[in-house]
Amino acid sequence: MPDVAVIGAGALGLAAARRLVSGGARVSVFEREPQPGGLAVGFKVGPSWLEKFYHHIFRTDRRMIELIDELGLGGRLVWGRPPTASLRDGRIRRLDGPLEVLRFSPLSFPARVRLGLGVALIKAIPDPERLEGQTASGWLRRWMGEEAYRVVWEPLLVGKFGREAERIGMPWFWARVHDRTPQLGYLRGGFQLFYEALADDLRRHGASLHLDCPIEAIERRDDQLHLETPNGSRAFDAVLCSLPTRLFLQLARGLPDDYVARFSRGSDHYSAHCVVLELDRPLQSAYWLNVTDPGYPFLALVEHTNWLPPADYGGRHLVYLGNYLPPDDPLYALSDGEVLDRFLPHLARINPRFDRRWVHAAHVFKAPFAQPLVRVGYREGLPPHRTPIEGLWLVNMAHVYPHDRGQNYSALLGESIADRILAER
Ligand SMILES: Cc1cc2nc3c(=O)[nH]c(=O)nc-3n(C[C@H](O)[C@H](O)[C@H](O)COP(=O)(O)OP(=O)(O)OC[C@H]3O[C@@H](n4cnc5c(N)ncnc54)[C@H](O)[C@@H]3O)c2cc1C
Repeated sequence: MPDVAVIGAGALGLAAARRLVSGGARVSVFEREPQPGGLAVGFKVGPSWLEKFYHHIFRTDRRMIELIDELGLGGRLVWGRPPTASLRDGRIRRLDGPLEVLRFSPLSFPARVRLGLGVALIKAIPDPERLEGQTASGWLRRWMGEEAYRVVWEPLLVGKFGREAERIGMPWFWARVHDRTPQLGYLRGGFQLFYEALADDLRRHGASLHLDCPIEAIERRDDQLHLETPNGSRAFDAVLCSLPTRLFLQLARGLPDDYVARFSRGSDHYSAHCVVLELDRPLQSAYWLNVTDPGYPFLALVEHTNWLPPADYGGRHLVYLGNYLPPDDPLYALSDGEVLDRFLPHLARINPRFDRRWVHAAHVFKAPFAQPLVRVGYREGLPPHRTPIEGLWLVNMAHVYPHDRGQNYSALLGESIADRILAER
């Protein structure tokens, strides 16, 4: 029975650990934070958990749906079509269906038709292989026209990738459109319930979970892999590391210099910055609002309780104000109070009645490795799962390409690498 360590208790690490346990391995999971869940981790609002960063799933997230069922949480999974819209010229405009596209007046009528056909074309492309080497901006301009690109796609790409927007690869954009469904799913009570259930399931099956236990170094010596933790060193036959490549390169000792140099270059991420407001009343009408008007300090406004009932959260109305930014953006250095002073006045542009007294509580969350920069040629920059150190495997969110990051794809990938580890033993 091999002794396997899994580093990271997000969707990937936990799904991998579960597969390893069911394959007969002795498994230990190490997580830096006090709770499992990784980027989907929650905090308590009233009786429910709420994700620090907005989360839902799609009908195509089949493995995630199965896992939720396997853990006995299927009854909590709710599906809906909450309104998705864009804030454009000061108005909230729906853009989440063919009819809504045809009514989208910021575009000329021919441009609306071309936009609709372009989306249908992306849905019809079965495999993104032929899109490798093309930028999303180039492809979208060519097939959907300059007008649709400028009005609809450019603000989203620039909002998400800033100065890198023109270099983002088309296969990633294809997957975002192709994989997504109009129906969205949410785990009532919060996705944290899923992670707690996964962790409990692992413990019940004999795995050990070490929370609040950051791995400080990984080294191969005496034919075993040694993990350095604040509580001492532990030795394993194999290690699956689910950390971002940058962190992995800092932790693993004895990697060849050319490997480190090569994969440092391709592992850039943008960071996520999210303000969560607990309000005493609703702010606006959409669930998801892409903020494409200029001058706003946030890119997305997600009013969670325009879908899930406020009663789940002790009556609070919950609003996320989200951004993706380079890790050195000055926003990250601001105090929470300074962030609120900068953000809150803009809410009155969306709802003129907004008053700061509506805000009962506010939280600011930051995640440094939140969005891989999926530039053209991205795939060549991905490190192989088998690392130069025997028995040490690297598999992380960045590897789900061309799919956009998502709990489903992390779980699937974690399970597939767990199978490879088991097959070698
Ligand atoms: C703003 C935002 C919105 C998102 N929206 C959605 C959505 O709607 N739907 C969806 O499915 N997905 C969404 N995602 C993506 C989803 O959260 C991720 O794809 C998924 O959680 C990744 O899981 P993972 O296990 O691969 O990585 P992570 O969640 O990053 O897990 C890595 C784990 O490693 C731990 N760790 C780091 N360093 C150490 C160390 N030294 N020692 C031990 N542990 C360590 C971390 O604490 C973390 O728990 C969103 C992400 C963001 C940022």
